[in-house]
Amino acid sequence: MSYSIAIDGPAGAGKSTIAKLIAKKKGYIYVDTGAMYRAMALYFIEQGIGAEEQEKISEAAASADVTISYENQEQIVWLNGRNVNGLIRTEEVGKMASSSSANPEVRRKLVELQQALAKRENVVMDGRDIGTCVLPDANVKVYLTAASHVRAIRRYEELKAKGQECELDVIEKDIVDRDYQDMHRALSPLRQAKDAVLLDSSAMTIEQVADAIIRLCD
Ligand code: C5P
Repeated sequence: MSYSIAIDGPAGAGKSTIAKLIAKKKGYIYVDTGAMYRAMALYFIEQGIGAEEQEKISEAAASADVTISYENQEQIVWLNGRNVNGLIRTEEVGKMASSSSANPEVRRKLVELQQALAKRENVVMDGRDIGTCVLPDANVKVYLTAASHVRAIRRYEELKAKGQECELDVIEKDIVDRDYQDMHRALSPLRQAKDAVLLDSSAMTIEQVADAIIRLCD
């Protein structure tokens, strides 16, 4: 039986940084499910589909083939055979991902892919519905959060380091809006699984959070 660690939580809580670190320490595979929803969203944007056009999204989802592979432990997301890692980390794609991820066709496809991966490999998987829907029997479940202002500052610094223009209050508003949308959708909304451990990283370092999760595994 493969081992799985599920980490869910709102945008910018540090899920991916921490999941990556734990995967490295434990020799597991890190699965960034948000990147899959972002790849789908990129496809819809490229097709000229708007965030509100749910019928078109359902139809187009059938022709978007998303897969992942690994290079030097880094996850590469492929969209119809094209490496899209460099195109999915924008606010525009994030917003579209939050709208299109509410679509049942999109979720069905990606959840299938995620469950197949976790069956084959030991995984640290992060997202919004991993502990509640994708891997309800995960060995360890964590709900990782932090104050929205702290999360906004982290994202702001990340974007600035990449040389992207941004404003802190716009980022905080985007984060709050996206969380609201993710928590209030009908299908697999973001919420803490009953058996998940709540960790608030507002005043914790990356190492402290990673150590706390590794202790849960032990
Ligand atoms: O984590 P990230 O910001 O990359 O996720 C982008 C969007 O994808 C989220 O706002 C959410 O709407 C969606 N998502 C999801 N389920 C997951 C992972 C991400 O609905 N397991």
